[in-house]
Amino acid sequence: MTDKPKSYGRKSISASATPQELITPNPRLHGAWAVQVITLVPQAFPGVLGESLTGKALQDGLWTLDTIDLRRFGEGKHRNVDDTPAGGGAGMVLRADVMGQAIETALAKTPSGAPLIYLSPRGKPFDQAMAHDLAQKPGLNLICGRFEGLDERVIEHYDIQEVSLGDFVLTGGEIAAQAMLDATVRLRPGVLGNQASTEDESFSDGLLEHPQYTRPAEWKGHAIPPVLMSGHHGEVAKWRQAQSEELTSARRPDLWNAWLARKEKKGRDT
Ligand code: SAH
Repeated sequence: MTDKPKSYGRKSISASATPQELITPNPRLHGAWAVQVITLVPQAFPGVLGESLTGKALQDGLWTLDTIDLRRFGEGKHRNVDDTPAGGGAGMVLRADVMGQAIETALAKTPSGAPLIYLSPRGKPFDQAMAHDLAQKPGLNLICGRFEGLDERVIEHYDIQEVSLGDFVLTGGEIAAQAMLDATVRLRPGVLGNQASTEDESFSDGLLEHPQYTRPAEWKGHAIPPVLMSGHHGEVAKWRQAQSEELTSARRPDLWNAWLARKEKKGRDT
């Protein structure tokens, strides 16, 4: 077990006026979005985030990812991090004192303005608007729970925001943290090659995305809708908008009603 936080991505930086930075375990890359994750399974990171576009962005220093192993702060010979719930009941609870030390370690290194978030099924549901909001921050501190979760006092003491991936229960916060990071990192400048692609995808204007097609023009007797082959940009845009509206009203009445209400309000305001 190592006592040093683990760093992923670029391990060195180019020459600068402060060469000492190079020998610190976690060089702070200028302008990089700095993420720290408190977890009992640091080996699960970067996981899928080390692949493809998020992985390339990590290599390129557009963001940094440090894990803080909660076990390091455990009690006694066995480094215990959990104990039985006060009041009885099944399972184990992560101790406030142990988690508190991990949080203090994270906060000591974090850029100011980076939110402290606990992945939790009781949290505010994560969505695209939250991803956009978090992508504007200088970084993120994430806490992954395990067992029955965290002692409530630690959540209150550090005024931790709780964020949920959805209405289901995972065994730990790591998958939720990676999903959240993937959705957020791809909105940072320079991460996706084609910036425009985040502008007209699902949710960006509150609607689901229209269907997509590519070559071959005909496949097993199915043709691409002719309007998409017409070269008429105005007609293509109209068709896509109509498809988005139809899909959203059929599949997601919640999003559809919110979109209609916004449209009506816009109409009234102008
Ligand atoms: N007893 C808790 C569930 C604990 S699950 C309850 O009923 O609320 C163990 C850990 O998995 C949690 O501490 C949390 O970090 C993570 N987790 C589980 N489901 C999640 C979800 N839907 N979103 C985000 N994190 C989740």
